[in-house]
Amino acid sequence: VPWEEDVSALLDRVPQEVASKIRLVTDVGEGMGLKVFLVGGFVRDLLLGRPNEDVDMVCEGDAVPLLERLSSMGLQVSIHRRYGTGTVRFPDGRKLDLATARREFYEYPVAQPKVQMDSLKHDLYRRDFSVNAMAVSLSPRWGMLVDYFGGRGDLNRGQLRVLHNLSFVEDPTRILRGVRLEGRLGFRMSQDTERLAASCVKGGMLSLLSGPKLRSELELIFRERNPIWAVDRLCGLGAWDAMFPGVPLSIDGLRALRKLDVFVRRLGRDLPPLGEESWLAFLGALLYFGNPWGGRSAMDRLSLSQKERGVLEAILNGLGTLETAIGGKGDIRWSSLCRALDGVNRVVLFAWAGITSRWRVRRRILLYLTRLCKVSPMLSGRDLIDLGVPKGPAVGAMLSRLRFARLDGEVDTLEDERAWVLKRLGDL
Ligand code: ATP
Repeated sequence: VPWEEDVSALLDRVPQEVASKIRLVTDVGEGMGLKVFLVGGFVRDLLLGRPNEDVDMVCEGDAVPLLERLSSMGLQVSIHRRYGTGTVRFPDGRKLDLATARREFYEYPVAQPKVQMDSLKHDLYRRDFSVNAMAVSLSPRWGMLVDYFGGRGDLNRGQLRVLHNLSFVEDPTRILRGVRLEGRLGFRMSQDTERLAASCVKGGMLSLLSGPKLRSELELIFRERNPIWAVDRLCGLGAWDAMFPGVPLSIDGLRALRKLDVFVRRLGRDLPPLGEESWLAFLGALLYFGNPWGGRSAMDRLSLSQKERGVLEAILNGLGTLETAIGGKGDIRWSSLCRALDGVNRVVLFAWAGITSRWRVRRRILLYLTRLCKVSPMLSGRDLIDLGVPKGPAVGAMLSRLRFARLDGEVDTLEDERAWVLKRLGDL
């Protein structure tokens, strides 16, 4: 019998845009006689009072007809019939995952006869940690927490606990997931769980993980706040060395990582979007201080794409040249700084800002990333043509020169820019 608790008051606090979607799916499911539950990280965060818009729902009974019904109501729905799962995308861009509770009950004839609840229980039992293995029933009983495995208690204790001894052996990515969650929530694995994780690592299980799987877990870790904590922890569990034998973590690497983390916290809003590859800056900062062989083997291990390898190679190889170019003691014109940095991938620049030991270089890269790279002329290409610049490459070239002029303070107002351009029409 699971622990049950009325948490409907917490559901009332879910933002309206999210709650209305949960309500809609619940109502449609209820109309079809299905039992509908919230599960996983959403429930964990609901109890913790942490915002989470990743709604995961499970229903007892087949989710596919429910997904089809939602689709027939005009919602965008993708269905994986084989797994009985699907994703509903709403017009406002939010999405909701819906799955059929796995009926492993039928595969294990000795299971207890409470078919339906057992199937939810089995669904939850497949999950990684007790705090992620709770459900909140929505229909027929709105807002009842269903906790079979002591997740509520673990949540109160700030503890991650696997549900059975073979959990990490079954899926070693759970070790990385655990470390990531520890870092994010400030939780800690229970002693037993930590012991199981360490012995799984020792037994070489991480080497069985495929490159893409390892890569996606690592990427998630580097996308979290405070990745240094997680990396340190992976080290403590022996997992870092098991994953990347040629890349021992160094004080310098961790220091670089910490700097990058500080930059994100302090300058986050001013930094230009670094895109999908931003996590490579963190990985690159760690690899930089290992030996080149270690860096290459890490890239192989993670099955990185050519493009990603290119970013990492650039991080590992180009800093020396840049330090010579922009690290001089005297003042540097902003246009010169931009000339040196404009063509460099921003993820690479960001990584270098964390790696370099020369404060001038760091300061200049950050100045470029937070301000200079965004400077552009007030006049547009169209304006230049109207002023008499011939159509074609001359427009781009003039815009670029005008930008440098702006960077060096030669122009300020729109009028200045116009005058500046008119004066140089003769150069063309
Ligand atoms: P996040 O906030 O990072 O998305 P989450 O806990 O919501 O964390 P998801 O990756 O969205 O994680 O997965 C949803 C749920 O699926 C988890 O809460 C967990 O119950 C379960 N889960 C995910 N990956 C695993 C795994 N490798 N092993 C067992 N259960 C897993």
